[in-house]
Amino acid sequence: MTLTRVFIKPRKALPFFSRHPWVFEGAIQRVEGKPQAGQEVLVVSAEGQGIARGLYNPNSNIRVRLVTWNLEEAIDASLIRTRLSHAVDLRRRFLDLDGAGAVCRLVNSEGDSLPGITVDYYDGFLSLQVTSLAFFRRLDFIKEALVDLVKPKGIWLKCDAGINEAEGIEASEQLLAGEKPASIIVSENDLRYHVDLAEGQKTGFYCDQRDNRLATARYVDGGEVLDAFCYSGGFGLNALKHGKATTVLSVDSSEPALELTRRNAELNGLADRVTTLRGKALEVLTQLGEQGRSFPTVILDPPKMVSSRGGIERGMKGYLKLNLAGLKLLPAGGILTTCSCSGHVSMEMFQQLIATAATQSGRTIQILEARGHTWDHAVSANCPESNYLKCLICRVL
Ligand code: SAH
Repeated sequence: MTLTRVFIKPRKALPFFSRHPWVFEGAIQRVEGKPQAGQEVLVVSAEGQGIARGLYNPNSNIRVRLVTWNLEEAIDASLIRTRLSHAVDLRRRFLDLDGAGAVCRLVNSEGDSLPGITVDYYDGFLSLQVTSLAFFRRLDFIKEALVDLVKPKGIWLKCDAGINEAEGIEASEQLLAGEKPASIIVSENDLRYHVDLAEGQKTGFYCDQRDNRLATARYVDGGEVLDAFCYSGGFGLNALKHGKATTVLSVDSSEPALELTRRNAELNGLADRVTTLRGKALEVLTQLGEQGRSFPTVILDPPKMVSSRGGIERGMKGYLKLNLAGLKLLPAGGILTTCSCSGHVSMEMFQQLIATAATQSGRTIQILEARGHTWDHAVSANCPESNYLKCLICRVL
């Protein structure tokens, strides 16, 4: 079968020869014929030299997601299965997936050479998110391979309305295989958490922060911890269990998130040391500052503030304001753990931002640890954007 060709503009092909998987509209010179959304295409240089095979979507910002640089290899059930099996093998090798409450990112999209497929593993249940139309059309292959490779108790399809609209995916959340769990409890760093597949945010639990929660706890040497953007309460609970926190104030704008934090505190016998406060973090932090409150440890783990290149300037201002408000609450010698999960913000940019916050607040900030996400969120060496999480643990004087 001859594939429809997508021609890249002159001098724009280098990243794709270098295996970057995202072809944006601006890099495309012309497309042969009218390929359907989700169709497999051959991406070629302006001179017609084959580069890679990918999946086309005329409605998405990412026009083509490149999947294989082996021009003979079709993007079919066998390719999907092979890649899923590489992904599962990695996690099985370093984690006991059959252990009670095992939790991890099982398939990490670009990081596992399956751009647009994300799977989280929660005590034998899978939460599957498909953010590319082309792979969505191949959902049956994905499901069959996962059932075969993992033998999960159930697979729940998670959807994100914004992404579905951007990609042209028409689907609603549903059970794809097995049973829907009545309740799931996972175990991480010797703490237990409720995970609600259907109601939870994103895929249900943020296991990318596992090591950062524990790393932060090591620096907590007493007093009250402010855990802003707490969601399931993980940072605060680690500070109580593995650090020397006396109490935690957990802040989130979402009531279900605070409810989850309270249930998790209860589950771990720590309910009497966790207080929750609902509100927008920037406003809450500012008010606490005005009340003269101070916290020897402040954790800032906001949702993505930059979601496109065009949004960088605005998002960076948001990060700056938030960190300045956090700094106001820290006494001399306090610990600030500050995170950014925006793929468009590099570690260098984030460190620069913290330097600006230090200058503007007149504080001395020492970076003790510059960290990323856990290893199960494997990053593609050719797609640095998939290295999205930055976590700086700082001492503030
Ligand atoms: N730290 C968490 C993950 C944070 S996810 C963990 O370890 O699991 C981001 C959280 O920020 C979500 O729970 C979301 O409800 C919350 N959120 C979003 N916007 C917010 C805002 N303006 N103020 C406070 N919380 C916010």
